[in-house]
Parts: sequence; structure tokens; C-alpha cells
Amino acid sequence: MLTDLLKHNRRWATGKRLEDPDYFKRLSALQRPEYLWIGCSDSRVPANVITGLEPGEVFVHRNVANLVHRADLNLLSVLEFAVETLGVSHIIVCGHYGCGGVRAATDGHRHGIIDHWLQPIRDVADDRSGELEGITDPDIRLNRLCELNIEAQVASLSRTPIIQSAWKRGKKLSIHGWVYGLNDGLIRDLECGRADCGCSHQGEGPEDCEQFRRRDEDDRSA
Ligand SMILES: [Zn+2]
Repeated sequence: MLTDLLKHNRRWATGKRLEDPDYFKRLSALQRPEYLWIGCSDSRVPANVITGLEPGEVFVHRNVANLVHRADLNLLSVLEFAVETLGVSHIIVCGHYGCGGVRAATDGHRHGIIDHWLQPIRDVADDRSGELEGITDPDIRLNRLCELNIEAQVASLSRTPIIQSAWKRGKKLSIHGWVYGLNDGLIRDLECGRADCGCSHQGEGPEDCEQFRRRDEDDRSA
């Protein structure tokens, strides 16, 4: 019932005020999240809930199958605002196993407009058909395509002019590819992240990079 939602909201707001009387005053005056989350619209993968982040701690963009379309004004506006104005340091592209969008992209049926939206997934499936055709279990094959899609979106995001220009200006910004398991509630780092480390390590997880880690430590001790 809708009224339950409003009742829950009042209880939540009262609880927050009891815990910390300035909670909403502080939040309304400023948002300075460290993270931009690009995730799937699937209702079972809510960014704040599964990462334990509070309001104000993560800027969120979600669409079907967590895709980065180069001409998506919605995503590009969110991305530019997050990078240029909010100054996030980490962008997380988080997909999930058993993604209905990824399944719909490759099930051979016509679904409507969404088929156009899902085209990048079919491109990934075509590019990696050799590997995917070798997987006989359809669920495992779908889950592998979910991972490959996340990796492709991380790569696509890293090539956008917004990210390229931020890196050129020396901004410390890394992109991570994560996958969430609906079955166990756990997030796994696919280690396909990108960071401007000034070294040739691109394509590996940024945390593995010596130079990136050192710069991060320098920043924290400064
Ligand atoms: Zn999904």
C-alpha cells in the first residue's frame, strides 16, 4: 500500500532526527559523494542498500543493464556533474548476474524499443562468441555475458571525452567494474577497472597499480 510507504518515511525521518538533530540540515546544505554508481535498474540491486552507504554518499545513475551509450544525454549529464561539480573519485559500474536485460538482448525474441537499447550487449556477445559458445550451461553463459558487458561498459566509459579530459587534467579518478550476485548478495570486483596512473597498467584493477596506490597514500597523508 502506498500509505505504508509514507508512514515508513515519517518513521525513518523521525528516527534520523532523534539520532542526529542536524542530520537533514547538514544533508540539505551539501552533497559531496565520493562515488558515482552506474547500475542496472533492477529493483533487487539498490546501490545504497547493498553497499551500506547513507544518503549523500553515492550519486546514482541506473538504466536497464547498466549500459554506457555514448549519446545518452541522461548518463552524460550525470557523469559530467559527478566528475566536474561533485568531484567524485570513484565511478563504479555495477551489473548483476541473472540480468534480465542481458538475457533479453540475446534470447532471439523481439521485445520492442528495448532491443535498440540493448544492442551493445549483442555486440559484446558477437565479439566474444568463441568464449561464450564454449559454455554449455545457459545460466553460466548468461552470467559470463553479464561480466563481459560490465567490462565493456567500463572500457566505453573510460573513453568518453568527460573522463579523458578529467584524466588529462590530472584528476585522480578511477573506474571500477563490479558484479552483484542476486543469489548471495555479494559484490565481486571484476578487476577490469581503469585509472589514469600515468603508467601502462590500464586494463588492470587500479588498486593493483603501484603508482596509483602511492599517489593515493600521498593524498591521504597530505
Ligand atoms: Zn539487470
